[in-house]
Amino acid sequence: MKRGTIGRRGWTVLKSGKTGCLWWALGLAVCLAGGCRRNAVKEESFSVMGTMASVMAGCSDAERCGVYARRVQSRMKEIESALSVYNPGSDLSRMNAQAGKGLVPAEGHLKMTVGLSLVFGAMTHGAFDVTVGPLVKGWGFSGGEKPERLPSPVMIEERRALVGYTNLVLSGGKCGLTGKGMLADMGGVAKGYAVDVCSRDLKQEGATDFVVNLGGNMRCFGKPQAGRSWRVGVRDPLKPSGTIGWLELGDGMAVATSGNYERFVEIDGKRYAHIIDPRTGWPVQGMAGVTVVAPSAATADALSTGLFVLGPEEGMQVLTLFTNCAALFVPDKTEREILVTPGMEKYFHVDSAFSAQVQRIGRQTH
Ligand code: AMP
Ligand code: MG
Repeated sequence: MKRGTIGRRGWTVLKSGKTGCLWWALGLAVCLAGGCRRNAVKEESFSVMGTMASVMAGCSDAERCGVYARRVQSRMKEIESALSVYNPGSDLSRMNAQAGKGLVPAEGHLKMTVGLSLVFGAMTHGAFDVTVGPLVKGWGFSGGEKPERLPSPVMIEERRALVGYTNLVLSGGKCGLTGKGMLADMGGVAKGYAVDVCSRDLKQEGATDFVVNLGGNMRCFGKPQAGRSWRVGVRDPLKPSGTIGWLELGDGMAVATSGNYERFVEIDGKRYAHIIDPRTGWPVQGMAGVTVVAPSAATADALSTGLFVLGPEEGMQVLTLFTNCAALFVPDKTEREILVTPGMEKYFHVDSAFSAQVQRIGRQTH
């Protein structure tokens, strides 16, 4: 197997020389169950929302696949321009600029993601909290200069005090942040949301067999070929050039991975990853990767971020609320452990080299 390009955020393209099948993803890779066949599936990729996106479709003519890819690309661009924190003209930035001053009209993608943020904030007991923006910025994850030293405890405390999804409001056709200095960052859910919207678009377009992938947030429909199913490889968070196994996903299922290897800053030789624990104000320590399978990409995206914060023990308690979701945790330890919820066992197939490291956790019934 040949190795391809490494992009921003460690996005890796792996190309199988023998079969011509493209494997890609951030944390994940897709293939067809039972092996890859040349020309069976068309795939187009492009960059958007700071990462790579792909549409893979089991369509007979390449032209049709191009139509799907263009539709997805323009929708993702539209979502990016509504929800980017980097674009001062985005709907999200307008809402942030009004923090503590007033509400803005709740419309379109902003309304939908604010709604999702409130639901997942409540369901994860605040582990998933989009108002973590001031801390994301304080730790240097919002572009600009990377910090050379640790933020001061005073600064962390001041910013932590600004965080709280219960001060994010959606009511009467308006939405906003009630506290001055608050900042919402949709980075933990916007990609999954975009994958769901694009999947709906492709269904409307008549597509039945396809995968939409945005930076490792994926949703699969139908089959790549008769008698085959979509396979998604799970990257090894402790050695991101390899995989630990693969998932076999049925119609409509989604998957997302949150990892400490995607975006991080290094201060005094120590790595601090981009997912912040809203309870402490510090980047989460101790987790290397969390993969979630869910019936929607927004759920997989928000839940993988929230479970990354909570870790396996507290995460299992939260998962009891999500009876149709399954999770896989890899703690950040030299001795690799692959902790899977009972529900994950029907999707996850471990690579034989790691089978001794898989442990089942919790008593989830799904
Ligand atoms: P993901 O890669 O989906 O896990 O999302 C990580 C991104 O979500 C970060 O780059 C931040 O923009 C944002 N984020 C960081 N910590 C949290 C958190 N605790 N809850 C929600 N979003 C977060
Ligand atoms: Mg996420």
